[in-house]
Amino acid sequence: MDLGNKKPGKRPMYVYYIIAVAVIFLLNFLVLPSIQEGSMITTDYSTFLSNVERGNVSEATVDGDYIYYLAKQEGREVPCKTVAMDDPNLVERLRQAGVQMSEIAPERQSIVLTLLLSYLVPIGIFILLGRWISKKMMRSMGDAPGGMMSFGKSNAKVYVKSTSGIKFHDVAGEDEAKELLTEIVDYLHNPHKYAEIGASMPKGALLVGPPGTGKTLLAKAVAGEAEVPFFSISGSEFVEMFVGMGAAKVRDLFKQANEKAPCIVFIDEIDTIGKKRDGAGFSGGNDEREQTLNQLLTEMDGFDGSKGVVILAATNRPDSLDPALLRPGRFDRRIPVELPDLQGREEILKVHAKKIKIADSVRFDEIAKAAAGASGAELANIVNEAALRAVRDGRKFATQADFEESIEVVIAGYQKKNRVLSNKEKLIVSYHEIGHALVAAKQTDSAPVHKITIIPRTSGALGYTMQVDEKEHFLMSKEELENKIATFTGGRAAEELIFHTITTGASNDIEQATKIARAMISRYGMSDEFDMVAMENVTNQYLGGDASLACSFETQTILDKKVVDLVSTQHRKALKILQDNIGKLHELAKYLYEHETITGEEFMKILEASGEESL
Ligand code: ADP
Ligand code: MG
Ligand code: ZN
Repeated sequence: MDLGNKKPGKRPMYVYYIIAVAVIFLLNFLVLPSIQEGSMITTDYSTFLSNVERGNVSEATVDGDYIYYLAKQEGREVPCKTVAMDDPNLVERLRQAGVQMSEIAPERQSIVLTLLLSYLVPIGIFILLGRWISKKMMRSMGDAPGGMMSFGKSNAKVYVKSTSGIKFHDVAGEDEAKELLTEIVDYLHNPHKYAEIGASMPKGALLVGPPGTGKTLLAKAVAGEAEVPFFSISGSEFVEMFVGMGAAKVRDLFKQANEKAPCIVFIDEIDTIGKKRDGAGFSGGNDEREQTLNQLLTEMDGFDGSKGVVILAATNRPDSLDPALLRPGRFDRRIPVELPDLQGREEILKVHAKKIKIADSVRFDEIAKAAAGASGAELANIVNEAALRAVRDGRKFATQADFEESIEVVIAGYQKKNRVLSNKEKLIVSYHEIGHALVAAKQTDSAPVHKITIIPRTSGALGYTMQVDEKEHFLMSKEELENKIATFTGGRAAEELIFHTITTGASNDIEQATKIARAMISRYGMSDEFDMVAMENVTNQYLGGDASLACSFETQTILDKKVVDLVSTQHRKALKILQDNIGKLHELAKYLYEHETITGEEFMKILEASGEESL
């Protein structure tokens, strides 16, 4: 629904066109001819002739059926007309009387034509041109509702209670965020309660968190709970092709919101317009963004907080926001929407599982455990994948196995059915994966192995060892991190040990191991040299956490060397572990090679079976 069109007092452009054309026609056909003919006397032909003979006519013009002439009357020259007769002597008579004459009266005859050519044709051309341009513009602006006249209006969508219908109970977990938002809902329900004490609600709340954690969902739920109009616009919608349009949209959005108060204005992905202003604005695009941001700041200051307009915004890049947006009186309330914990994951799974048919035996706690680190969106995806898999296999409901498989699909990509590994490759991958699992199992403080598979995935992984923590970890010790690095190097170590050569299959392991090692030294203060000094600062914490170096070139060189030392120490440790358990390595790799997928229990059973190799 587009409210921008319902403004009273604004007539569409074509009304003006019609009025202009009508005025010109009236002038043309009524007024001008009457000026010409108003004082004209119609006489009969004989009067005309007698006037000519008396020498009263100075000028005469023959125009088709009529003769126009000027007759002297009481000293004035009066325009007259008469019906022309078929008179062959007329010309002769007029000449004798010394009357100036012409065949036609150019002025009289062409006055309509002239007007037509000089006014109507250009106007017609203008109208057609205008139409064409506006049509082109509308097309280039996409399907802007309302066409030309909604130019510069915000196209904030209004969600009315009935269309959204999302409530807090649709958002699982995220209890903290919900609690903070409940206050806003309460305020929107009865603003008077707050006004009585003199408390004013924060004007804006900023939902921050990684992608897919339910920020947009929460904002909709607030609107659903509060039962007030909900203006939702995405930051990118403010970015327009014309400079100044974004600012105009902001102005219009707040005008609409003020009219509809109490209401909620939700600006999704606010970082698109709210990025830090950096002075170096060379391109026009930056100027436009800055103007839009300035307008937003002005509007937020301008409106009266007691009116009941609450502004929510969401972002996954809070660090990149302009500080002016975050100061008190603007988005001063920050609501963290973090990745769900174990219990949160279970609840999210249950919320989404309500929409599909599942077997009674499905254990959500198990699935939640296996999906550590998954966001709400990924969990929703896992549930949907499980249902799709059930359909594919022709079952009526989803089972535990469907969920287990769909976790791997979401995390590692689909099983690649047609990628056939040669037997040699399969053997290498088997040893590689068992290498990971064995190193993990032989260290204390390592997460137990949950599943090992050598079925290739569309993501490019040829095999996959899944470890699942029994309980959640919030703190990681130095030893645990070292063990993790050792586990990552375990795959390559097994290849070296058995095949005396190395393959490209460890690239992901290398990446992960390096990441951990680097973070340990540069950010967690886990080296002797650097003590508790940060070498790197994390920027954009919710989007993978890029790190920017914060040390001198010399220190960087030492840092790089320390990272290599740390990884190679763990690599040697992994090699040692595998060497000490080489019998089990062969036995397990052979078993995996034959079965392609083994569970954690199978793995442990073989590992713990009395074997002379385990020392
Ligand atoms: P964000 O805006 O944080 O990137 P969304 O709100 O768009 O994420 O979430 C995407 C989808 O993920 C939602 O539509 C919903 O299906 C699911 N989802 C995310 N978080 C939750 C949650 N806490 N409870 C239930 N569903 C969730
Ligand atoms: Mg979102
Ligand atoms: Zn590996």
